Amino acid sequence: MNLSERDKLYNWHPYTQHKTAGGFPAIVKGKDALLWDENGKEYIDAIASWWVNPFGHSNKIIADAIYEQLTTLEHVLFGGFTHDKAVLLAEKLLSILPENQKKLFFSDNGSTAVEVALKGALQYNYNKGIKKTKIIAFEDAFHGDTFGAMASSGISFFTEAFKGSLLEVVRIPVPTQGNEEKSLQALKDLVVTNEYAAFIFEPLVQGAAGMVMYSPEVLDKLIAICNQNNVFTIADEVMTGFGKTGKTFATDYLANKPDMMCLSKALTGGTIPMAITTFSQEIFHGFYNDDVNKALFHGHTFTANPTGCAAALASINLLQTDEMQNNILRINTQHLAFEQKIKSHPKVKITRVLGVIFALEIKTENKESYYGSMRNKLYNFFIENGIILRPVGNIIYILPPYIINNSQLEKVYATIEKALEIV
Ligand SMILES: *Cc1c(COP(=O)(O)O)cnc(C)c1O
Repeated sequence: MNLSERDKLYNWHPYTQHKTAGGFPAIVKGKDALLWDENGKEYIDAIASWWVNPFGHSNKIIADAIYEQLTTLEHVLFGGFTHDKAVLLAEKLLSILPENQKKLFFSDNGSTAVEVALKGALQYNYNKGIKKTKIIAFEDAFHGDTFGAMASSGISFFTEAFKGSLLEVVRIPVPTQGNEEKSLQALKDLVVTNEYAAFIFEPLVQGAAGMVMYSPEVLDKLIAICNQNNVFTIADEVMTGFGKTGKTFATDYLANKPDMMCLSKALTGGTIPMAITTFSQEIFHGFYNDDVNKALFHGHTFTANPTGCAAALASINLLQTDEMQNNILRINTQHLAFEQKIKSHPKVKITRVLGVIFALEIKTENKESYYGSMRNKLYNFFIENGIILRPVGNIIYILPPYIINNSQLEKVYATIEKALEIV
């Protein structure tokens, strides 16, 4: 039996109905934008392995930083101790985050970063004896798969089975072009009730919804409404962070900064699972008290793992190089050129580009479901052609590692054009 067959015997994969799924390719090697399976087949990783990998697979600089850390101090508990990499990473991040972000709380993944932000908002009010127990989120949001994150997410089939067990979250329309007023009004109607602790959102781009985009201007207005009504704002930058939108953070496009931010995915350059929730001084202050019960009682065994911190430091240094910034611009220029070429294709309904993100919606008779037949047909076509893309319903998107080269990118575009002929 090969790896793929042995895997099928034992491993339970994410978001997978194993009865109908085939065997999965077993990847044995990665370099830059390329991956190879056990049969030697080559793939272009056009979604940066779920948006985590800006600098390419098996990046030598990050690998060296990890190796050095592993052979100096691989891990130490963060309860009662600190270490140089956590301090250096905090200093580095605070120098690139919006200025109002002052404190970092480490955890392990995007979902836990969201949990920590939600707890921050809810307990802040609890500590002050204020009854604000509900959360506001966008329709079609995705914030992760733990319970608080799930409650905040609006993609129903991900959360349907757990509906009765979730935190109370009320949804407002996404302020896409033409829906701005509806969204603003819905938020205004909610905040006046004084029942909401926080508004959580994916800034400018809703990733899992299919790279749905909306403007910084309207998000600035939404944040202003929250500020005026003492509702905390949480920017979930788990997907958008570290250059994806063309700026370091999507919130860099805003005049009004969020109270909290969630970071993960590209934080360590796609190497080691790690996440950080960042807070304004005001929120930290709501926990700062002689009473121990007012502390944030949240933690994970591997909180601020030194190896993860070393990987994150190396990654952020890479992101700041001229080479990487030029790569982001280059990809954006290529995307815009492809958009011009493809947007009047008879099967294309609409296209979107921001930073390194390109999305295209295919015209359909009915609303295509997330994991529906069109999606499966497209997915399989791309895999057969050696391109890793994971369409969402009728939406094809590209979010490549920044080091993808022009000929690889051209191959991705050409394969998308061919895919339009088979649907
Ligand atoms: C992926 C994602 C999450 C969840 O992160 P995990 O590491 O998968 O738990 C949360 N928010 C956004 C915006 C994401 O894209």
